[in-house]
Amino acid sequence: MSTVRKFRDFGWEDVPVLAYKEGGPYKGVTRQVLFEGEESLPAQWRYFEVEPGGHSTLERHAHIHYVLILRGRGRCLVGEDISDIAEHDLIEVPSLKWHQFRAAEDAPLGFLCLVSATRDRPQLPAAEDLAELSRSRAVADFVRP
Ligand code: MN
Repeated sequence: MSTVRKFRDFGWEDVPVLAYKEGGPYKGVTRQVLFEGEESLPAQWRYFEVEPGGHSTLERHAHIHYVLILRGRGRCLVGEDISDIAEHDLIEVPSLKWHQFRAAEDAPLGFLCLVSATRDRPQLPAAEDLAELSRSRAVADFVRP
């Protein structure tokens, strides 16, 4: 693989556009793995793109995410905080906080996401988790389980 892989139209040379996940409750999300990491840097660096009106999976896990918005705009839930997000904003997703990203209705939401190479599987909300999240009206209105 060459040292430089050129960027074009929110894709990169030699980087396939993949399904976000195998199954799971999400809408209109693609995944590109930019860097796979190695022993001296055990991380994976991905680019996700959510189509207008789409959303990522509502999930939580012990591992953390570092996110940079690269394209478009939308909103995100992290813990109980719902925020407007736009190009170049940074988002930290702490351990075991529920999180979900939603694109605007009229714009995509593309973001870089750094994760540890060794990580636990995401958990999806059980009925009691959804009930707890829904104690906040704003969160209840935001989430797409
Ligand atoms: Mn996650």
